[in-house]
Amino acid sequence: MTNDGWVEIREDLRKRVGKDNYITWIEPLKLSALTGGVASFSVPTTFFGDWVLRNFSDHILHHLHRSGAEVDRIEFALERSPAKQPKKVTEAAPRKRATNGDEVPGAPLDTRFTFDRFVVGKPNELAHAAARRVAEGGPVTFNPLFLYGGVGLGKTHLMHAIAHELQLRQPDLRVLYLSAEQFMYRFVQALRERQIMDFKELFRSVDVLMVDDVQFIAGKDSTQEEFFHTFNALVDQNKQIVISADRAPGEIKGLEDRIKSRLQCGLVVDLHPTDYELRLGILQQKAEFYHGQYRDLVIAPGVLEFLAHRISTNVRVLEGALTRLFAFASLVGREITLDLTQDCLADILRASDRKITIEEIQRRVAEHYNIRLSDMIGPKRVRTIVRPRQIAMYLSKQLTSRSLPDIGRRFGGRDHTTIMHGVKKIEEMMTTDSQLSDDLQMLKRLLQG
Ligand code: ADP
Ligand code: MG
Repeated sequence: MTNDGWVEIREDLRKRVGKDNYITWIEPLKLSALTGGVASFSVPTTFFGDWVLRNFSDHILHHLHRSGAEVDRIEFALERSPAKQPKKVTEAAPRKRATNGDEVPGAPLDTRFTFDRFVVGKPNELAHAAARRVAEGGPVTFNPLFLYGGVGLGKTHLMHAIAHELQLRQPDLRVLYLSAEQFMYRFVQALRERQIMDFKELFRSVDVLMVDDVQFIAGKDSTQEEFFHTFNALVDQNKQIVISADRAPGEIKGLEDRIKSRLQCGLVVDLHPTDYELRLGILQQKAEFYHGQYRDLVIAPGVLEFLAHRISTNVRVLEGALTRLFAFASLVGREITLDLTQDCLADILRASDRKITIEEIQRRVAEHYNIRLSDMIGPKRVRTIVRPRQIAMYLSKQLTSRSLPDIGRRFGGRDHTTIMHGVKKIEEMMTTDSQLSDDLQMLKRLLQG
């Protein structure tokens, strides 16, 4: 994407941030490069970059994504810096520090992405344990380690942590970390420059290969082919491979079957969506860190809990919220209260208003009544199953915006009249059965987080 492309996207941002903000903060930004998932903007001053980063980076990323740009970070550099290279002032996620000199030309590792900064909770404990194991650098016990999960759940963090740890323990080890996108760029470049032998040699000579976001190569046939050969060559030499993706190997569309089955050969672990405890833990850790930076700031009790409760999308958003909150509070010199939080983060809070899914309702209700999840959608008609099923139907109607036919489809293709009947039944029973109405109250509370 060129600066012209950016100028078009920028227009959409005007609506989002308002005219004044737009003129002051967005219009002066110039897109200087967009490569390797990083969009670089030049800015007039350091303060300017900081401000935009704290206040608008989410919006900018969002709009870049929407326009189809492959970008996961934003960085800002001073324009017309005296040095030849623009001086980097700030990054949406600072990550520039070369790995092991320049003989293994992987992507730079983010110095913050270490194990000690990774908060472990139920949703990520397996992935964390597996990553730790690989980071010990002992004999290869599973190959590859395949980490998958939704955006912002810590895949890249764990991969970098493995690389940091390995380099600490065994400085001579050749660890190569890069994104699948970078793998492709390099491959294409090697083809163009007729250096494919060098390319092959490089990738076959590493001790540990980590490829992030491998779903990117789906549908890109010659890159897949090359990846497959690289992968096999390394596995044959018993070299550790770590892969990440946004979904399980079998679910990546456009990925060749032989690659899928290769990827499934090792250990496949997923990072589950965060739960409240994990989010709170992460917030507490970050808040402690910010405390070191902004010493006189006070956080009122309940603020972190409120955020952990309300922002359940992903950790990146959670972090962004906290960064903005601290920056704002330090600027206005006020205690971080719940009110200030709600004002300052209104847009983020609105955007992450939780949407409850029918699947979630079915799962919760099944757990509560101790029946199988499959019985929710299955045909069984015994009372002990029919009742919870109807409760789930009722809650689906109440807590989601799905239509009756839509709900019917998610209950094993039942007719909408069946759903209507179920909903009515529960409504009737509620008025006389206090146990049932207590149950419903509790389930609602659980589901609404
Ligand atoms: P992914 O690669 O899965 O999209 P990242 O690894 O980039 O996600 O994580 C997004 C952000 O959230 C990073 O800044 C990362 O440090 C942070 N993060 C994610 N999980 C955790 C965790 N368990 N503890 C601390 N920080 C985390
Ligand atoms: Mg990532």
